[in-house]
Amino acid sequence: MDERILAMMAAVRSGEADRLVHAVHGMVDANPEVSGREVLLQLEALAQKSQEWANKTVVASEPDRDTCAKCGQPIETDSRDRERWDHSSDRSRGCRAADFTAEDGWNDEIPRSWVASPRKRRS
Ligand SMILES: [Zn+2]
Repeated sequence: MDERILAMMAAVRSGEADRLVHAVHGMVDANPEVSGREVLLQLEALAQKSQEWANKTVVASEPDRDTCAKCGQPIETDSRDRERWDHSSDRSRGCRAADFTAEDGWNDEIPRSWVASPRKRRS
């Protein structure tokens, strides 16, 4: 895997460990007699909330999908720019590029100006 991504994942894990230590500090400060079992229950609730939030953001980050109004191929939005549509087959913007195959070559019926466009605009 990419060295930069691994380093960022390590930083995220470090921040998460820090957050858990901070949470346990808060529990002990609030009740110095808190039991290990109570700390565990509260950490489990915290983990559950984190998981629900992560699942929600993963679902929300899914690309919007449609069929290209110009060429009829499947298209989807780019995760870095939700207004940008690319053809799903090869992530190309242009319809001509998305239609290109090594066997059949370029389709001259498709104008060079055509780019991935959703059939329906999102509101
Ligand atoms: Zn297209």
